[in-house]
Amino acid sequence: GARSLGLYSPSDPMALLGADSLERSVFNSSSAWVVEFYASWCGHCMQFAPTWKELARDVKDWRPAVMLGAIDCAEMTNQKICSEFKITGYPTLKFFKPFSRKPDDGIRLLHHGDGIQSLRESIIANIERSEDAWPPACPPLEAFSAPELRGFFQANSVAYLALIFEKEDSFLGREVTLDMVQFDNIAVRRVLNSNEELVKIFNVTTFPSAFLVFSNGSCSHIPVEGDSRPFYRNFLRRLPGVYRGGSFRPTVKPTVEPKTTPALWKVADRKKLYMADLESAILYTLRMEAARFLFLDKERLSALKQYVAVLVKYFPGRLVVMNYLRNLDRWLGPRTNVSQSEWEEALRNKKEEPYARLPETPTWVGCQGSKPEFRGYPCSLWTLFHLLTVQEALLSPRFIPQSQVLPTMRGYIHYFFGCRECADHFEGMAAESMDRVRNKDGAILWLWSRHNRVNARLAGTNSDDPKFRKIQWPPRDLCWSCQLTINGRRMWDEREILRFFKSHFSRSNIYLDFLN
Ligand code: FAD
Repeated sequence: GARSLGLYSPSDPMALLGADSLERSVFNSSSAWVVEFYASWCGHCMQFAPTWKELARDVKDWRPAVMLGAIDCAEMTNQKICSEFKITGYPTLKFFKPFSRKPDDGIRLLHHGDGIQSLRESIIANIERSEDAWPPACPPLEAFSAPELRGFFQANSVAYLALIFEKEDSFLGREVTLDMVQFDNIAVRRVLNSNEELVKIFNVTTFPSAFLVFSNGSCSHIPVEGDSRPFYRNFLRRLPGVYRGGSFRPTVKPTVEPKTTPALWKVADRKKLYMADLESAILYTLRMEAARFLFLDKERLSALKQYVAVLVKYFPGRLVVMNYLRNLDRWLGPRTNVSQSEWEEALRNKKEEPYARLPETPTWVGCQGSKPEFRGYPCSLWTLFHLLTVQEALLSPRFIPQSQVLPTMRGYIHYFFGCRECADHFEGMAAESMDRVRNKDGAILWLWSRHNRVNARLAGTNSDDPKFRKIQWPPRDLCWSCQLTINGRRMWDEREILRFFKSHFSRSNIYLDFLN
């Protein structure tokens, strides 16, 4: 069906990649590629998107030496390709040197802090390491030498040579060199402050500073005003005879088609749960998240077995879905090692009776967001686990006091949840206090209060859907008696919370609307 553009739009100067175009674009390309693998539902990806857009704008003139791209791994159609590239957390940034041939050729780029400076620098550092596969469009980036200067205009038919004198750790010279990739009739090179000969010839006393050498051998100092990189870039681009060459034409058309028909808005009742959300959560966990790993074994496989076993025990699902989960649970039981293809085969469930199935695509109802990137999967996962804590308290025998659902959720989030920073936060909360949970009601309350902590932290950030604000839940209109106000301070009444949870997350409060 129609695919969304995820977090980016065709006006962003980057390639919007999909399963059909990622390898075609990145492999055997004469450009270096830097690709962001993200999930549109992942809050950290939303937080990171403005940075990626800013970087794309900042280095758009480095094309075709360096190309930027992005692919939404949350799209069902991209699941397989993202797993081939061994993407297990979002966002993941990968650098592919020119003429890369396989997913393993990608080198992970780390991103520190908020700015794009460190990203720009690691792109340059990686290009420099691509000696055997230098992008043909990229001029030399290494430091210039006096012997090179002597024969420069015989060897290069340009009118100008700009020399940027700088310290070893400065990236300015290389950045300006790349900024001029698309411009003809000029060359830019960096000179290190340690190059005594050149420093003396040009009589350089401050670093950075820049000189323009003309083909007739004369030269002049370039005075800087303001920030050096944009200043040098604009200065050099405006020199008479310097012009943008015709060799690079950015592709205007995105490789992913924008969604033509927005998803039908489904009116949901906040007082209800929707089976469509719950089944979609299960679909997404099994088909997208667990299918990302080439092998499932040891603790990760145990976490998955435990998750499926808990669903079989406590998920109040439709008969066909429960049959499907039971088959899967039985199939997983004896295994110690499951390959990706075995797992996919087991999920396809071909051999089994027609009365066992999961929906093919997710449908969000109570978890529908006002835009495609909001809510959806993470919303449904919270809902599913709240439901499971409540169902466990209602159904499991009294003589087993401990909750099995809570450690199962901890294992699932730790080993599978694609938003790795979310998983780390959650693990932090679990490590701090989960072992103090005494019984199954305690498990309900623990998850309720930790979810509220996450809500408090995220309120007002860019993953906060303006139509569904992150609030301390449940609000008064869902449960009046859950909140008390004592001396102007809001307090929760935990007995009332439990009572409310046991009715809100009960089987009879689940609507079957919008199921296909
Ligand atoms: P959600 O918070 O997803 O809640 C879904 C629904 O549950 C709500 O619509 C409401 O009906 C109900 N609900 C709300 N609060 C409670 C509560 N206290 N108890 C019971 N029910 C409640 N995103 C980040 O950006 N950073 C993170 O660190 C992060 N950590 C996460 C950790 C986990 C384990 C999960 C599952 C998700 C995490 N997320 C994180 C995603 C984020 O919490 C939201 O799920 C996402 O932004 C979608 O928000 P939402 O508005 O649909 O509401």
